[in-house]
Amino acid sequence: MAKVIICDPIHEDGVKMLRDAGLDVTLDTEVTAEELLKKISEYDAMVIRSRTKVTKELLDAAPSLKAIARAGVGLDNVDLPYAKEKGIEVFNSPEAPCNAVAELVLGMMFNMARMISEADAGMKQGKWEKKKLTGFEIQGKTLGIIGFGRIGYTLGKKAKCLGMRVLAFDVAMDRVKQYIEEIGAEAVDLDTLYAQSNFITVHVPLLPQTKHMINKEAIAKMRNGVHLINAARGGVIDEAALKEALDSGKVKGAALDVFEEEPKPDEELVCRSNVICTPHIGAGSVEAQIGNSTVVAEKLIKFFNS
Ligand code: NAD
Repeated sequence: MAKVIICDPIHEDGVKMLRDAGLDVTLDTEVTAEELLKKISEYDAMVIRSRTKVTKELLDAAPSLKAIARAGVGLDNVDLPYAKEKGIEVFNSPEAPCNAVAELVLGMMFNMARMISEADAGMKQGKWEKKKLTGFEIQGKTLGIIGFGRIGYTLGKKAKCLGMRVLAFDVAMDRVKQYIEEIGAEAVDLDTLYAQSNFITVHVPLLPQTKHMINKEAIAKMRNGVHLINAARGGVIDEAALKEALDSGKVKGAALDVFEEEPKPDEELVCRSNVICTPHIGAGSVEAQIGNSTVVAEKLIKFFNS
């Protein structure tokens, strides 16, 4: 029976799945790095989140380890090249937060369109600013999605159901075109997306090619009064260029879940009335947390059964 150590807290549903599948599971979610180093040799697999650091030293102390399962997306805490060299499989669960992120982005769009945060803040100060708060409807508006992977697709599908026109651009257009067409969206080049969208949202990874892809030049190609959203990674939008565009009114509003500096983002950006912000909570739903644990449990079970 394969032995699995769960080193960081994950939702109980995933733990139950592993046990029901007959794996010998040890829950040790407060294990220190020193303790883990001593006991890791007993285990065939480990489940982690971001707390546990899977270093070269730890991997050298783990002769039986065959799989590492990260409940979540980021793998910065795992020495991936060394795990690969040792033939250890590494799993994560990028599928789990898709819906949570897509719903947050929709919430941000509704919020910007109807000024919900501003209205709420005014009410709490005893104001009744009915006239100032005439918004607009998102039905019939155009949403530009840059990066049509898991989240871009999930969001696009929902936006179509809300009666939006959806334009999509992806660097791997050949791979994603069928999904764009499947939901009734339109595959376009970036310049078309910039020129025609009322809302533009980025769903790309942060890479050298995507760092500051939304910069001064890109913003200049957008419609006047565009609304921008970033729930991907801080740095995809150039915050200095965004502030300038918010000042000039070129960008009417922005909604940001991620920032160039976390957890201390630029106050001058965050505190603007035409910006709504959330502290990197895209994946912060109960369902996504359950998903993180069950998705990696499923992958581990499949691995040990094959
Ligand atoms: P994914 O890998 O499924 O999709 C990313 C897409 O971006 C791919 O289709 C890829 O071809 C495309 N892409 C890459 N470079 C591009 C470029 N230069 N121009 C256009 N398209 C490009 O990823 P996903 O699961 O959809 O996640 C998207 C982003 O959301 C990632 O940055 C991820 O880290 C982030 N994310 C944020 C949160 C949050 O809490 N806010 C949660 C989960 C994921």
